[in-house]
Amino acid sequence: MVGGGVVRRRITVRGVVQGVGFRPFVHQLATRSGLTGLVGNDTAGVFIEVQGSREVVDALRAELIAHPPPLARIHSVHVADVPTKTETHFVIVASQLSTVGTSSVPTDVGTCDECLRELFDPTDRRFRYPFVNCTHCGPRYTIVRGLPYDRPATTMAGFPMCADCEREYHDPADRRFHAQPIACPACGPRVWLESGGARGGDDEDAIREAVKVLAGGGIVAMKGIGGFHLACDATNPDAILRLRERKGRKGKPFAVMVKGVEHARRIAEVSGDEAAVLTGPERPIVMLKRWADQGEVDDGIAPGLNSVGLMLPYSPLHHLLIDDRPLVMTSGNRSDEPIAGDSADARERLADLADAFLMHDRIIHTVCDDSVVRVFAGHEYPVRRSRGYAPLPLKLPRPGKCVLAVGGELKATLCVTVGDHAYLSQHIGDVESIDTLAALDRTAEHLLDLFRVSPEVVACDLHPGYLSADWAAGFAERRGVPLVRVQHHHAHVASLLTDANWQGGPVLVVCFDGTGYGTDGAIWGGEFFHAGTGTIERVAHLKYVPLPGGDTAIRKPYRTALAHLWAAGVPWAPELWPVNSAVASDAERRVLRQQLERNVNCVPTSSMGRLFDAVAALACVRHEVSYEGQAAMELEAHAAAAGSCEPFPFGVSDSLPIELDPMPTLSAVVAGLRRRLPVEVIASRFHATVAEMVRVVARVLNATAVGLTGGVFQNVTLLDLVSERLRTDGRTVLTHRQVPCNDGGLSLGQAVTAGGIQ
Ligand code: ZN
Ligand code: ZN
Ligand code: FE
Repeated sequence: MVGGGVVRRRITVRGVVQGVGFRPFVHQLATRSGLTGLVGNDTAGVFIEVQGSREVVDALRAELIAHPPPLARIHSVHVADVPTKTETHFVIVASQLSTVGTSSVPTDVGTCDECLRELFDPTDRRFRYPFVNCTHCGPRYTIVRGLPYDRPATTMAGFPMCADCEREYHDPADRRFHAQPIACPACGPRVWLESGGARGGDDEDAIREAVKVLAGGGIVAMKGIGGFHLACDATNPDAILRLRERKGRKGKPFAVMVKGVEHARRIAEVSGDEAAVLTGPERPIVMLKRWADQGEVDDGIAPGLNSVGLMLPYSPLHHLLIDDRPLVMTSGNRSDEPIAGDSADARERLADLADAFLMHDRIIHTVCDDSVVRVFAGHEYPVRRSRGYAPLPLKLPRPGKCVLAVGGELKATLCVTVGDHAYLSQHIGDVESIDTLAALDRTAEHLLDLFRVSPEVVACDLHPGYLSADWAAGFAERRGVPLVRVQHHHAHVASLLTDANWQGGPVLVVCFDGTGYGTDGAIWGGEFFHAGTGTIERVAHLKYVPLPGGDTAIRKPYRTALAHLWAAGVPWAPELWPVNSAVASDAERRVLRQQLERNVNCVPTSSMGRLFDAVAALACVRHEVSYEGQAAMELEAHAAAAGSCEPFPFGVSDSLPIELDPMPTLSAVVAGLRRRLPVEVIASRFHATVAEMVRVVARVLNATAVGLTGGVFQNVTLLDLVSERLRTDGRTVLTHRQVPCNDGGLSLGQAVTAGGIQ
């Protein structure tokens, strides 16, 4: 081949290019074009050397950029001329290790259509095999022990391939060419059932027995891709109640798995965009609007809410198990514990929870909860970014320092920045116990190890009492690197601006949130910032209200309501719900009043989440919560039922920072209750009030663009009302698309702030 017009080029491709069939794709392309050379993985991505006539080499480069394999995401391509060689073939070469890696770890992908066809084809050698996968689908991040992504570095290393699998694995024309988790009934993992400590049937028998347990109202602990699920019949109220009791999960909604989009439509309204997300390769739980008559699932799935989280089967085992009966699929843990991933650990921890265990012998190296998304205005609006998405990086506007950020306390994720990429971990959970702290520690070590980086800076929240902040301080000290404490809402703002890839100069960002430690020691959460690159100024906030007992009020909205009434100068009249002795005892109220009057053990708060709580308690929607945001979510369900209504009044100060006074709102809510306004109308008018607050501040400050972030914006009814008003006024609206508006997105904001990027 060497001669006139022959060139050899080295092409390096960065991005999500490993574990997605990129090397076989390049091999096929090059072989078809008669080119010679090589392709391989290194820790930074894929490297290609290709030799042949200039036009053909350039055509190959253009083709791989224009039409990469479906799951690949190319971030950059670098081309350099290198000396030609004497060779006759195009080959795939062994992986190369380098010291610092910036390659992306591939994510777990739901079973593809081809594999599904084989799963149900009686003539196929993988007929009904629960671990069928190929280069386009299957487990990835959850089985990866190290990079580059090759079989020996995964938990499939313990399953030597049979001759048939070996042949497919090495055949460039095969769909399973270099599919690392390749397996078949002859050589791969198996399933079996355990109940009452005894091992029941294997394979087909195990699946049949598990279906029988489910049909009989039992609870099955099922080992999956990212951990154990607890499953039960979603149409059986007794089974659901039993699961709630055993799990210690009172009201928090359960996710439901349904066979397909048509089944989802029997339970909830599913738009075209929502159907696309449901059937997408990430297979997240999609939050959908439930039919008013509950459809065919029991109301115990999501009590008091107008939404339901549905997902489709994403592993071959799910496909084999699910029939027309929708299944509750909730993470395999007791409330507040991390999800179980290890079989021995699950046997112990879930022994009292499950009637049977559907086990398999493929090790889950990294536990990864199901992701949760909504669809807002035609795009994904993440609620929990985990399986299927983690640890895909977000592209940063420019490279910065290598930062490890640990998030806040609730819904924690980690973030590691390497060059101009920010890698977010899976959902770790609420870092309030030793168990979740251990999970945080493991995840940090794993990510740093995968990318072979050592952080130059560690970032955490400003809150003095967070376990994650203590961990970060210890880590920073051990490594001898600086620790940067980033204010909670500053981090939310930076997270949104990075997520929205905002480069347009200073912008007004609204951060409505539950709890965040402010720079003045108060609990913030109803905040407006003027934010630009490297600058942030608090320009407006809700007026402070004293919160007796601080964070303890979060579980008891009636206490927050009483505090708000006191601050608004509204007497605690006995006809008001939070004053009712069925809700709070006379003694409790007496102590509360003393605390407020003497300002003892009261923390001032500007939290919008707490204002939602106060209104929810006043409207008798909820007085005590069993999960974060419950009162606000139930208030939203009532508001959505009423449609749009007139706002209540509120105060706006003249000076900067602008103070928004919710006292007139509280008084109006009380007056409305006395006039016996329906709770739906109160809820709806309150939502309109909050939207109006944003509109007024944006007008006063003459903002051209307004960002919306913070946990309160998980409320899509509010998000809708606010965006609509801002757009009507001609303003650009920035909302999240890649990371959650809640504390799951915090680590990204901390990382870009501490790294000097945002
Ligand atoms: Zn497949
Ligand atoms: Zn095999
Ligand atoms: Fe927050």
